[in-house]
Amino acid sequence: MSAWEPVIGLEIHVELDTETKMFCGCAVTKGEPPNTRTCPVCLAHPGALPVINERAVEYATRIALALNCTVQPRNVFHRKNYFYPDSPKAYQISQFDEPLAVNGIFHYWVGDERLSCRIHRVHMEEDAAKLVHAGGESGRIAGSEYSVVDFNRGGTPLVEIVGEPDIPSPAAAREFLMQLRNLVIELGVSECNMEEGQVRWDANISMRPVGATELGTRTELKNMNSFRFLQQALEAEMPRQIKILEAGGTIDQETLHFDPDTGTTTPLRSKEEAHDYRYFPEPDLVPWEVAPAWVTEVRAALPELPATRVERFVADYGLSRYDAFVLGSAGALARFYEEVAAQGVDAKLAANWTMGEYLAHLKAAGLEPSQGHLTPERLAALVRLVADGTVSSSAAKEVFRLTAEEGGEPAEVVEKHDLGQISDQGALEKVVAGVVADNPAQVEQYRGGKQQVLGFFVGQVMKATQGRADPKLVNELVRKALEA
Ligand SMILES: [Zn+2]
Repeated sequence: MSAWEPVIGLEIHVELDTETKMFCGCAVTKGEPPNTRTCPVCLAHPGALPVINERAVEYATRIALALNCTVQPRNVFHRKNYFYPDSPKAYQISQFDEPLAVNGIFHYWVGDERLSCRIHRVHMEEDAAKLVHAGGESGRIAGSEYSVVDFNRGGTPLVEIVGEPDIPSPAAAREFLMQLRNLVIELGVSECNMEEGQVRWDANISMRPVGATELGTRTELKNMNSFRFLQQALEAEMPRQIKILEAGGTIDQETLHFDPDTGTTTPLRSKEEAHDYRYFPEPDLVPWEVAPAWVTEVRAALPELPATRVERFVADYGLSRYDAFVLGSAGALARFYEEVAAQGVDAKLAANWTMGEYLAHLKAAGLEPSQGHLTPERLAALVRLVADGTVSSSAAKEVFRLTAEEGGEPAEVVEKHDLGQISDQGALEKVVAGVVADNPAQVEQYRGGKQQVLGFFVGQVMKATQGRADPKLVNELVRKALEA
């Protein structure tokens, strides 16, 4: 056991799927040709004035409420000043000391353990334009020949969720993000497309002696959008910090670069961390009131949240917490499962088949939960065939595969491919007798007291019947034959 424990905090940026940008009427870009979704406001022409997008405020409020935050009655936008080619105004309109919402909490699961992370604040801002570094091999600024700017993304509504450093491990950080992303998708405010950078995050990590309450100095990973790389980077950073601390050194607060190829973190030696953004209230926008009655309305219109649904799956369907979590934490799969269960089949059996064969099928074919090649009705029909003993569970896997490939009703597939369960006692007795006769050594062992050999015989009979024999009956018959 290590004497050190990590403390991890996350800040997540989510681009909202509103029709228009945060402060102008330009359509939010869906990958149109560069610089075709711009206007004097988002290009910062002199005299152009911003107007707050009310829908963006509503979407941000949904996120805040789902994270159990207190929505502040008074909101102010500030100018965050910085000079960079991705910002034509040379400042970003953001929120500073009077953000949309504060003091929330997010509950998430790591295996069977429910963890909580305090949410410091949720605020609104606008996204920067996109820089494209051309002429190099990596697409990064280093090694490129020139850079161009696509202003389509500039001004897209952005919500920043700032978590407290409450996350106890890299694996938990990954779960936190995956579950938070599911939540945001569920709220209908963003598709959170990772490849397009609709959701991205900064992580900070420090180490402290196990059980200590004081935080160590943290390092940061910026602008990530891969769950896997995040976990790998944090896992790589832990031993690096421990080594320094155990040698009596101190950690510098700096930004890290993670190299997925070598799996190592290296500090970026740019010590320009002490930014002075010279925040001041945006003079072109007045502070605005967020009416408590309106917040109540937004809260009432929230959909069922994943955490609530997981609890409901445990209560309504009698699922274990783990199963309820697998099926209930993302909307599309949850809806699929509920449609299967709604066909009146055994809910636990339906859960096993949805989590087992159906999920494996989706994964193998690279499909979303709603795109599987089996409808909920057909999966339910298959579950029913298993439940009433028409097919054995191993043959049912074959029926699943064939139904997904060929279409048609599971019952037809069973008939067409002759996959029905063999529960004809006479027929099975013959197979059992054959297996017993072929394996005299194992018969000796069994009769010598080695009870486990029973499993071997059952396996052989199942094999001889291509998995179609009724396993319960086979068990009985084998025992009878061996003890005869
Ligand atoms: Zn615009």
